[in-house]
Amino acid sequence: MLILVINSGSSSLKYQVRDVPAGRMRPDGSTPAEDAMQPDGAEDPMQPGGALKSAGAVQSEETMQSGAAMQSADAVLAEGLVERIGEEGGPADHAAAMEQVTRDLGPVLHGRKLDAVGHRVVHGGERFSAPVLINNEITRAIERLNPLAPLHNPANVLGIRAITTMWPHMPQVAVFDTAFHRTLPEYAWRYAIPDSLYRNYGIRRYGFHGTSHEYVSHRAAELLGIPLGEFDAVIAHLGNGASITAIRGGASIDTSMGFTPLEGLVMGTRSGDIDPSILLFLERQGMDTDEVDSMLNRESGLKALAGNNDMRSIVEAAEAGDEKAQLALEVASYRLAKYIGGYHVAVGGAQALVFTAGIGENSAQFRSLVVQRLGALGVRLDDDANGSRGKEPRVISAPDSAIPVLVVPTDEERAIAEATAQLVHAEL
Ligand code: ADP
Repeated sequence: MLILVINSGSSSLKYQVRDVPAGRMRPDGSTPAEDAMQPDGAEDPMQPGGALKSAGAVQSEETMQSGAAMQSADAVLAEGLVERIGEEGGPADHAAAMEQVTRDLGPVLHGRKLDAVGHRVVHGGERFSAPVLINNEITRAIERLNPLAPLHNPANVLGIRAITTMWPHMPQVAVFDTAFHRTLPEYAWRYAIPDSLYRNYGIRRYGFHGTSHEYVSHRAAELLGIPLGEFDAVIAHLGNGASITAIRGGASIDTSMGFTPLEGLVMGTRSGDIDPSILLFLERQGMDTDEVDSMLNRESGLKALAGNNDMRSIVEAAEAGDEKAQLALEVASYRLAKYIGGYHVAVGGAQALVFTAGIGENSAQFRSLVVQRLGALGVRLDDDANGSRGKEPRVISAPDSAIPVLVVPTDEERAIAEATAQLVHAEL
C-alpha cells in the first residue's frame, strides 16, 4: 500500500511516501503475495504494466522541488519538508502546504494513488493506546488534548483537516507518541501531588517517543531471537530530545519523559529533571512564565553546559580538552547511567540495553561513556564493535558482558506507515 506519512508542526510539515506491503504485519499469517488484486482494485504495482515504476526508476527520472525522490530497500518513494507555513515566503496555511506536497508528489507517483495517510500525533492523552482510524470525532478528541501539547497537537489537527478537506475519502490514521506508554502501571505514572491536579487537569506522566521505543524494542527482540512477549529491556532513544524506556514483556512499564517531553534525561536544549522549586525561586526573582519555559526548553541541556547541542562538536571539543564539553558529557552520561540502573531494576533484570536515534546510533564515544558507568551491572562494550558504523541493528557488547548492548536504528516513519497500512487493510 502507498502510504503518505505526515509529521505536521506549527510552521513546518515533514512528509514521506512509503510503499508498505499490505500484509506485512497481518495478524492471520497470510502473506502480501495473496494480495495480487488490491482491495481498491488498483493495479498491482509489482506486476508488469503496474502504475508505479521502481523507486530506482523514479530516482533517476525525477527530482522533487522541496523533497527528494529516493531509493530504498524499504521503499521510501519520496520525502520532503515544507517550511515557513504561515510566514512570509511560505505557504499561507497547512492546507496550502498540503497542496504543495501534492504538487511535489505528482511526478514521483506516476499516477499511482495514495492508499492512506498516517499522521504522527504527539499527544493521545489517556484515551489512545494504539493507532486509530481518523473520523471527525477522533479529530475533535485529538483537538481536546491541545492543552496537554499546545505546540504540537494543534499543528497535528491542522494537518489532518488539510487532508480531510483535500481528499475527503482518504483513510487517515493517527499514530500517537504517547500510546505505547499507556501500559505504565499507576505507580509509575502518578506524581505525588494532590489528586485534584490529575482529575482537573490530567497532570500525570504520559511519556513520549513511544513509536520509536516500540519499533526499536520489536527490532531488538527480533535480533536476539527472543519472543516479544518475553522481552525485557532498557531502550535509550538519544536524539535532540532524549528518553529512556523500561520494557517488560514487550510493553512499556516506565519511561523518563513525563507530563511533557521535558522530564528525564539531559537533552540537546532541554534540562530534563530539575528540582521544581527552582521554577518557584526564579518566578520570585521576577522571571516570567515564557522566560522560564524558554530557558528550560531551549537554553538548557547540552547547550547550557557545553555551549552547543551538537553531540559531534561536543565530543570533538571534549577530546581537544574543552572542560565545559567534558562536563556536559559527564552530566549527560551520568544521568543516563542512573536511569539505566533504575530501569534494569524496574524490569527485573533487562535482557538487553539498546541505543537508538541520532546520538544513540552514531556516537560511539557517548555510548562508551555511558557503559563505562555500568560496571556494577557487568555490562561491557566491545570497542571495535562499538566503533563500527552501519544502518543495521547490531550487537556492540563484549562476549563477556552480562547482557548484550545493541544499536538499533529507529525509523518512526516506517513504523507509522506500517501501522497505517495494517489498520486500513484490516478495515477493508
Ligand atoms: P531529533 O530528536 O531532532 O530527531 P536526532 O535523532 O536527529 O534528533 O539526533 C540529533 C543528535 O544526534 C544531535 O546531537 C547530533 O549531534 C547527533 N548526531 C547525529 N549524527 C551524529 C554522529 N555521526 N556522531 C555523533 N552524534 C551525532
